[in-house]
Amino acid sequence: MKKITILVIEDEEAIRDMLRFSMPQSEFHLFDADSTSSAMAILAHHIPDLIILDWMLPDKSGIEFIKFIRKQEIIRNIPIIMLTAKAEEENKVKGLMVGADDYLTKPFSPNELVARIKTILRRGPIKSTTGEIKIDNLIINTNTCHVTINSHWIQLTPIEYKILHFFTLHPNKTYTRDQLITHVWGRNAYIDERTIDAQIKRLRSKLRIHGYHVRIKTVRGVGYYFLGDSDEKK
Ligand code: CA
Repeated sequence: MKKITILVIEDEEAIRDMLRFSMPQSEFHLFDADSTSSAMAILAHHIPDLIILDWMLPDKSGIEFIKFIRKQEIIRNIPIIMLTAKAEEENKVKGLMVGADDYLTKPFSPNELVARIKTILRRGPIKSTTGEIKIDNLIINTNTCHVTINSHWIQLTPIEYKILHFFTLHPNKTYTRDQLITHVWGRNAYIDERTIDAQIKRLRSKLRIHGYHVRIKTVRGVGYYFLGDSDEKK
């Protein structure tokens, strides 16, 4: 089973230790950072599934760091849970307004944190009620698994369909090959990363005739993302 990777950015060693000891190791892999600069060094090599971010840090505040992350192409969609010692309602709201997905006030229970993490990671994108996903002229009928571009039927294999479906549900967000394998084949799948490259190459060639192949973007050394609806604000 693939572990959920979490980057913990917290300058209090006691809290980092508490998280390390209390979060089930069978489910979570933790990266530790005691400042935003050491967090950046980790983010250069690892894209975690979620970030736990302390508000008060020695170099940058958590709020400043969220603003920074949300402007970065590759990491801007990583869910963030804010930790705060400040209990004032106003500050919590401020934290959420700048882009935290959730917050916890110290002291908190590790069980509560784990529950919040799972809720955030489970929270899927909102599907349209008609069972159709539309990205410009690309339409996926999720009831029939029928894909059309400019009303032309695009014949896809089940895996190609799943990749495209996943991409269109999560546009403009970069996924590593590992993450794509987890989402498309499932957590327990043992799939070579080159298989993803081969599948995406085939999918691109099927979308090429309508020029939609350019929407699957390669992020060198990282993975792939799908360019969403051109009307949608980024
Ligand atoms: Ca702190």
